[in-house]
Amino acid sequence: MERAAAVASVRVWPIGAASIGSKGEALAEIAAMKQAGIVAVSDDGRPIATAKLLRQVMEYCRALDLPVIDHCEDSSLFAGAVMREGKQSVRLGLRGMPAATESLAVARDVQVGELTSCRLHIAHLSARSSLELVRGAKAKGLSVTCEVTPHHFTLTDEDVQYDTRYKMNPPLASREDRDALIAGLADGTVDAIATDHAPHEAALKDVEFDRAPFGVTGFETAIGLGLELVHAGKLSLTRMVELFTTGPARVLGMQRRIAENEPGDLTIFSSEHKWTFRAAESASKSHNSPFDGREFRGAPIATIVAGRIAYQR
Ligand SMILES: [Zn+2]
Repeated sequence: MERAAAVASVRVWPIGAASIGSKGEALAEIAAMKQAGIVAVSDDGRPIATAKLLRQVMEYCRALDLPVIDHCEDSSLFAGAVMREGKQSVRLGLRGMPAATESLAVARDVQVGELTSCRLHIAHLSARSSLELVRGAKAKGLSVTCEVTPHHFTLTDEDVQYDTRYKMNPPLASREDRDALIAGLADGTVDAIATDHAPHEAALKDVEFDRAPFGVTGFETAIGLGLELVHAGKLSLTRMVELFTTGPARVLGMQRRIAENEPGDLTIFSSEHKWTFRAAESASKSHNSPFDGREFRGAPIATIVAGRIAYQR
């Protein structure tokens, strides 16, 4: 947080590890981290290892009024898989995992969340079966929220090529899943769009598909991909703005609005500006994006943080 205060041009809100070293063994010092300024708890990169540990984490977080964010994955079904199981994984000769890899863990989390009355947030939700569990939990009045990434609402497993820029976790899902995610964004089942931005140096990604790390970059293409849904008539512009602003704020229990005496944090964007994303010209040092060369209609023009211009196109 000291480093962010010294050099960051945007606000940085850290998430604390749920277990020490995210190893899934001993509970981390959540109360001390809350005092230091964390806004949530997660072992992201992997799920919170066991239901027993999750229960302990949730009991602490409920008392401290912190949401628990989980990367949902059943490791026994996940083992060795690198993409979604289906026709395309067979075609490419890559080991696949079914949608249940995610939704089994979502079911566990929803039930432990109900047991402990703790706020639960599902990170990068990708499957229709998971979304249905979140929809059911919300209907029951449980504090369950979820986010979807731009790559999951744009691409499907049919788009996966033998190219590590298509390797991420959770993997790109089926067309039925993708369409369900878009419906969830529109009807309010999904609370936020989040990028799951995961930069990797070229040397790490430039290996066989099986050996490459999971993850793609996403900051620079997020609004452009959100606007694709708006232009296609699948999402209203107001709803898209909510999913990038008040939606994620509510997940973290923050009040964010444009009003007198409130922080001057704004993104000014054009819904019409035509441009092409070139990973080589990216502001990121990493170029691992499946959207290299994609043409966009709409882009952020300026970002204002605390009344200062942090970015200008
Ligand atoms: Zn994750």
